[in-house]
Amino acid sequence: RVVVGTKVDEHHENFVRAYNMLTGIRFCVSRVNAKLERDLTDADFVAKHKYSFDITGSELTPSAKYDFKFKDYAPWVFRHLRASFGLDPAEYLVSLTSKYILSELGSPGKSGSFFYFSRDYKYIIKTIHHGEHKFLRKILKDYYSHVLDNPNTLLSQFYGLHRVKMPYGKKVHFVVMNNLFPPHRDIHRTFDLKGSTIGRDYKEDDLEKNPRATLKDLNWLRRNLHLEFGPAKKDMFVAQMQRDVALLQKLKIMDYSMLVGIHDLERGNEENLRDKTLQVFQPGADKPEEAQMGILTRTPSKMESAKRARELRATVKKERPVPMAQAVDKMPDEAHRRGAYFYSDDGGFQATHEDNAPGEEIYYLGIIDCLTRYNFVKKAEHFWKGMGGHESQISPIPPERYGDRFIKFISGVTMSREQGEKERVSNVLA
Ligand code: ATP
Ligand code: CA
Ligand code: CA
Repeated sequence: RVVVGTKVDEHHENFVRAYNMLTGIRFCVSRVNAKLERDLTDADFVAKHKYSFDITGSELTPSAKYDFKFKDYAPWVFRHLRASFGLDPAEYLVSLTSKYILSELGSPGKSGSFFYFSRDYKYIIKTIHHGEHKFLRKILKDYYSHVLDNPNTLLSQFYGLHRVKMPYGKKVHFVVMNNLFPPHRDIHRTFDLKGSTIGRDYKEDDLEKNPRATLKDLNWLRRNLHLEFGPAKKDMFVAQMQRDVALLQKLKIMDYSMLVGIHDLERGNEENLRDKTLQVFQPGADKPEEAQMGILTRTPSKMESAKRARELRATVKKERPVPMAQAVDKMPDEAHRRGAYFYSDDGGFQATHEDNAPGEEIYYLGIIDCLTRYNFVKKAEHFWKGMGGHESQISPIPPERYGDRFIKFISGVTMSREQGEKERVSNVLA
């Protein structure tokens, strides 16, 4: 979770690696950005460039603080991807390289990946396994066309793919992607949903120790929660999810989840979570850094939050329901242009009531962890787990069924508060 993290400074064990990652990104991204815009060619999708950095520098590379090798993959494709996701090239560089401060979330998943947040919390660097790296390169063209065809995709937005290698060290592959959660709002609850029940329970008892933990499917069901979207938003959300999952099924991907962060507008930012966090990992921030952290440290007062919430509600237009099949094509023009329909309510997607009037929550959501291919390992796991349980409850099932189950679960819990209450009543009566 964003609010927990360790500042990666000189004393951090991964400081040099993180520093080199950012040095490499800065060099490679500036390099491709400096070129004249052109269309992509087939060769761009398989392109890779290797650079060697050292203290003295070379004709190609500037002098660097440490010795390391850096590999940049498909720079032109990612330049185009960043543009289609609406990133400003200069801002991207500044976010990722200014002052070289990241915060690290050591391996929140079981996979052993490391997560780093850019200092403005806009971007996440995730280290990935070699298999995931090879797979992303293989599907890059499909992913790219999908993004072009679906400006409002809910899939993780990939902005760069690189590799760093330090002397005597292992090769470390990593991607740069969007942080779904906003830097300026408290997220009151986080869920990672797969549509499976086996192993999908965060121990409720542990919540006391770790109140910001990422909860799972069973915790969601236990709380009888819904993604509270009225008919119009539900149609668009479900239609886009179906398109995205269809791609994942085609590419034989599984194990992904819908990450959902819930911001409760009534609670606002009253808890000043961000401030507390910063106190944890920014104890002695020197003056210029403090200035740079402005956006993060300044938490609006309760009154300001309430005002902001009112403004937000007022800006969300009432929408009329649209039939499912046309939903995606009927998105507001503005959404198409900016390509961020699901991130347009202050970086998220605001709840709506049955009459499509704005609701009480903002959801920050997207489909994450989508580089796991249904491969041999998964098949083996399927076999073993399959001996013990019913398939509909097992996480590693083939991609077709994984996707169908995912859609069924997520669309099944997407309904307005009013609809949810009606269903609860009819369940009780049944
Ligand atoms: P595993 O394979 O064991 O599930 P992983 O290392 O592949 O783990 P992810 O599933 O990608 O990790 O992510 C783990 C957690 O990190 C998520 O549940 C979420 O809390 C956070 N996270 C991942 N991606 C994002 C993102 N784009 N924005 C915000 N938070 C994220
Ligand atoms: Ca995961
Ligand atoms: Ca994973």
